[in-house]
Amino acid sequence: MLVVMKKGASKSDIGKVEEAIKRMGYTTRVIPGIQRIAIGVLGNKTRVDSSNIELMPEVLEVIHVTKPYKLVGREFKSENSIIRVNDIEIGGEKIIVIAGPCAVENREQILETAQLVKEAGVPILRGGAFKPRTSPYSFQGLGEEGLKLLAEAKEKTGLAIVTEVIDNESVDMAREYVDILQIGARNMQNFSLLKKVGNTDLPILLKRGLSATIVELLMAAEYIASEGNWNIILCERGIRTFADQTRNTLDLSAVPVIHELSHLPIIVDPSHGTGRWDRVIPSAAAAIAIGADGIIVEVHPRPEEALSDGVQSLKPEKFKILMDEVKKIAEVVNRDV
Ligand code: PEP
Ligand code: MN
Repeated sequence: MLVVMKKGASKSDIGKVEEAIKRMGYTTRVIPGIQRIAIGVLGNKTRVDSSNIELMPEVLEVIHVTKPYKLVGREFKSENSIIRVNDIEIGGEKIIVIAGPCAVENREQILETAQLVKEAGVPILRGGAFKPRTSPYSFQGLGEEGLKLLAEAKEKTGLAIVTEVIDNESVDMAREYVDILQIGARNMQNFSLLKKVGNTDLPILLKRGLSATIVELLMAAEYIASEGNWNIILCERGIRTFADQTRNTLDLSAVPVIHELSHLPIIVDPSHGTGRWDRVIPSAAAAIAIGADGIIVEVHPRPEEALSDGVQSLKPEKFKILMDEVKKIAEVVNRDV
């Protein structure tokens, strides 16, 4: 059960509700929110009789939640959440495309990509400065230097920036430079990192873990929300299966399932989802057709020179084709790009 307090409820009002819940034999957890404070009721095995709580001053409503994820679930909030990044809305009418290289490699590469992404009408640039690589000998990213280059690309183009964070130190650094923090698949269940980004006020792009169920993804989002940051964009990026013709198996059915279970927006990553550039465009089109709120795509001016994920990166001319395809499908599903 969640007890939602009215806006402006005082510490003492909250304390009184907590005391009443504890007298009933349950424990409480105050869940901070930017809009409203909620009190989670823990320890009940069956439905709690909430009639007394509902009558208490400053209680807005009591919500009976049956799912293990509470704040990010539809039971808690029936209308879709729209995540705002400057004047961009994710989860609204418009489909959002995020594009850019896997990693920031050098000044020329990121500025050139930013320009072509901007010219294609894309509002958000991606680019990793901290790369979690399978091999310790692979390119690990430029670190803070990469963040500075992303900031320069932002200044030159006006694009919003998303970059991956991998630990506390990179969160503290990246939050000074970028607009959205990405939690990568490998860190989806790094609970201390989830709490850390939950304590920032930047939107979080949370990617599904390599072998995570949808409930596990939603529980990871719950970690972020329970720290007070509700600005979460979920991302389906393919999961590990026995299929060996693609890098991962892009689970497009996750999109309608997540729309049913959660109010958060869900976007799809057809680049990591398939692992090969020639499978990216059809998968992106399918993602829009099935109801995704956007896509995140890897683009590189010269994929053959890329320091990471060149095989799945689109060349500029292919990226233009992707944009045309996405626009066509968006129209069919009554959305705009
Ligand atoms: C990435 O976006 O470059 C990335 C590493 O993605 P994932 O965490 O989904 O593998
Ligand atoms: Mn990549």
